[in-house]
Amino acid sequence: MAEQTKTRRKIKILFAASEAVPFVKTGGLADVAGSLPKALKAAGAKVAVILPKYGTIPEQYTSKMQHIAEFYVPLAWRSVYCGIDKLTYDGVDFYFVDNEAYFKRDSLYGYFDDGERYAFFSKAICEAIQWLPELQCDILHCNDWQTAMATVFLREFYQEVEACRNVKTIFTVHNVKFQGQYSDKVLEDILGLADNPTAAGQLYCDRDSINYMKGALCYSDIITTVSPSYANELQMPFYGEGMDDIFRRRSNVLRGILNGIDVDTWNPATDPMVEVNYSVDDLDKKAENKRLLQEELGLAQDPTRPLVVMIGRLTNQKGLGLVRYAMNYLMERGVQVAILGTGDRDQEEAFQYFDYTYGDQMRAIIAFDNALSHRMYAGGDLLLMPSEFEPCGLSQMIAMRYGTLPVVRETGGLQDSVTPYNKYTGEGTGFSFANMNADEMAASLLDACEIFWTDADAWKQLQKQAMEADFGWAVRAEEYMDIYHDLHPEIIRWQKKKA
Ligand code: ADP
Repeated sequence: MAEQTKTRRKIKILFAASEAVPFVKTGGLADVAGSLPKALKAAGAKVAVILPKYGTIPEQYTSKMQHIAEFYVPLAWRSVYCGIDKLTYDGVDFYFVDNEAYFKRDSLYGYFDDGERYAFFSKAICEAIQWLPELQCDILHCNDWQTAMATVFLREFYQEVEACRNVKTIFTVHNVKFQGQYSDKVLEDILGLADNPTAAGQLYCDRDSINYMKGALCYSDIITTVSPSYANELQMPFYGEGMDDIFRRRSNVLRGILNGIDVDTWNPATDPMVEVNYSVDDLDKKAENKRLLQEELGLAQDPTRPLVVMIGRLTNQKGLGLVRYAMNYLMERGVQVAILGTGDRDQEEAFQYFDYTYGDQMRAIIAFDNALSHRMYAGGDLLLMPSEFEPCGLSQMIAMRYGTLPVVRETGGLQDSVTPYNKYTGEGTGFSFANMNADEMAASLLDACEIFWTDADAWKQLQKQAMEADFGWAVRAEEYMDIYHDLHPEIIRWQKKKA
């Protein structure tokens, strides 16, 4: 192979995701897609983000979008319209794939034709690289099953296209639980890969179903996931959701990089959604946020009661069974609990039952309410997150930034981001327990309450340590830059790595 000439220029990244803050959000992926690109730009990359143009994107953004292109996307036997709109937000260029039949709907996922909608989106990404010079890139960085097929299409259909030939692919697993699994009818009817036995063989996950994420795990040059611990866990049958053998087979290209949070948005000193702003230097002001939250939620306005908040999807993943089991006991011990979330019906109803039963000691708000989540992060004393598995988890990092100490199970990103309290050295940013056991969880939570009740200085010191922990994207962005540049040794790094 001829030696490639080295050039010094910004490496070009196309970041593909199915949701991004501030446009659309159902979970942590949107936070990452909304904040990592900005950090990559600061680290010296040229970044563009591509996502579907959903009907739910607020008018304040759609009205500012510029229609820059349209073409037709080949999807098996059909040719489907695709418009591309562009909006520069916070210095990053966002490109929106427009097809109203697919994306102008009330919510993002859960439709009978999701397999077709996201195959279309993935193919549209490849077409956009082919036709739009401004989207031509060195790295295509895909996230989760919704964009997984782009890594497969790029190799199977676009390898001869000049703009695609040298594009390397990275696939990030944000949650292996959701894989995009469909009947193998999609091979012929949607993916156009029925007569390609090699590709089909990599996509089959059992006798008659096709798995989009499996495709990306086989085709991507590098696989990353959102914490080092989860990268290890994915290789175990308990956590791998049937993909553990592939993660083991590809462990040489599997990396775990902990997510960051947008420290400008999540800043108790400036957050406009927090009633009384505060920082490490005037931490006492946090107490007024607690009182206001208790008042808003109809909880007893008692500063001596530890207020435990939970914010997140109400699904089995989040270890809610432990909380349900321990609830009566925690109530007897005088703890207050406030839960904000939506999810599985049985979980929602269980917490509504506790809300009804415990009056001014327990509140369950079954809603998705971003502004309230900010007030809860600011007003809580503790954040409980006993997840069965947690790829990274953002809530615990946000809570620490607000001086709300997390109580977490030692798994995935929870284990990598929370340093458990050590009563001998005073080190720590929260509390943790090891096993999926309700008594263990309750003991850990009550240990935390014990410090809250009996040792105000130790509590304050822990809050300070939590607030001062670095959860910004800058360090993480450098880790991604290292991976991107390893894939393109011919591009000399634009910005020198800081010592
Ligand atoms: P996951 O990605 O598994 O849903 P994370 O902890 O990684 O969990 O990210 C969840 C994000 O969504 C956090 O920013 C959290 O504050 C937010 N969130 C989850 N549920 C709600 C809700 N009901 N209302 C407001 N924000 C929520």
